[in-house]
Amino acid sequence: MDIKAQAAFEGGSILSEFSFPPRALGPWDVELNITHCGVCHSDIHLIDNDMGMSSYPLVPGHEIVGEIIHKGSEVVDFVLGDRVGIGWQCSACLQCEWCNKDEEQNCAKKLPTCVSQPGGFADRIISDSRFAFKIPEKLSSERAAPLLCGGVTVYSPLKYHNMGAGNKVAIIGLGGLGHMAVQFANALGCEVTVISSSSDKEKEASSLGAHHFICSKNKSELINAVNSFDFILSTAPADYDWSMIVSMLKTHGKLCFVGFPPHAVSIPSVMLIRGERSICGSNIGSRKTIREMLKFAAENDLGARVELFPLAQVNDAIQKLKSNKVHYRAVLVM
Ligand code: NAP
Ligand code: ZN
Repeated sequence: MDIKAQAAFEGGSILSEFSFPPRALGPWDVELNITHCGVCHSDIHLIDNDMGMSSYPLVPGHEIVGEIIHKGSEVVDFVLGDRVGIGWQCSACLQCEWCNKDEEQNCAKKLPTCVSQPGGFADRIISDSRFAFKIPEKLSSERAAPLLCGGVTVYSPLKYHNMGAGNKVAIIGLGGLGHMAVQFANALGCEVTVISSSSDKEKEASSLGAHHFICSKNKSELINAVNSFDFILSTAPADYDWSMIVSMLKTHGKLCFVGFPPHAVSIPSVMLIRGERSICGSNIGSRKTIREMLKFAAENDLGARVELFPLAQVNDAIQKLKSNKVHYRAVLVM
């Protein structure tokens, strides 16, 4: 039976119905009946070909949860009926320096789920089981789906940079990634500040676990926070006054990018030299980190706050996401 999906047929287009036959099941593959798929801002970057890697028709969707209905001959980690998730990455060489260090996200042969194969805005998917993850029983599918990309993307740098009790962490952008970052940073014991362009998000930031709130449109609030943070995680797909943001780092503080601002980031080197501050980036998270993050989320009762949309209304979800109106992750229900 054909897979029924929603696809973009050219850069920037709205999505429309698209049916296609599934690929033959390989030895490591599983086939899922998809129940839920989050809508990540990276899906919008892909639809619009912002990263120059898209080809059409493009079926977006890489925050997938579903039930295994078929499996290949080599699949021993899962049984039919298991509830599993699939995120941004669907393949790597599993042999190189980076794969051997549990950093498959840095493998030169890594492949993204909804670029190298049709993604999760569909009723079914066939994908490599070695990049599928059992969803802990305690997590509902709708709250778990956005953890597979957005969740691990913010959990991974917080852990990698050893953020915990005694650290002051700021999260720029309270959207899909940002609202999960606030929950993770709080659960790790950090003192959390949200830096948001939306003044009306203060109450919700606090309910998610933020201790302080800065509205980025109010420059005096930014200036008051100069030399304050050990770590600033930028999730906004937007340009900020990055010199101002770097000045808010303490000595040895780090500004870490996970969101993609549309323009190059330019900062006077003196701002990094004085105070020995640094700027870095972080790319999703490894398979090991995804498993750890799912366990941590289940233990701490964390997950996405979601707005549900039927698959047929995917364009409404995308429109709402583009206008920064989703609280806080749109999730498609199949
Ligand atoms: P999202 O749900 O749209 O949230 C982004 C938030 O950024 C918005 O809620 C808004 O928060 C802020 N923002 C948006 N437009 C802005 C503007 N013009 N000016 C100032 N702030 C703005 O997006 P998301 O799904 O969280 O994704 C965020 C970014 O992370 C995207 O660029 C995505 O591609 C990227 N990403 C990267 C990775 C990785 O591996 N590095 C993985 C997943 C996603 P406020 O209203 O609070 O300002
Ligand atoms: Zn994503």
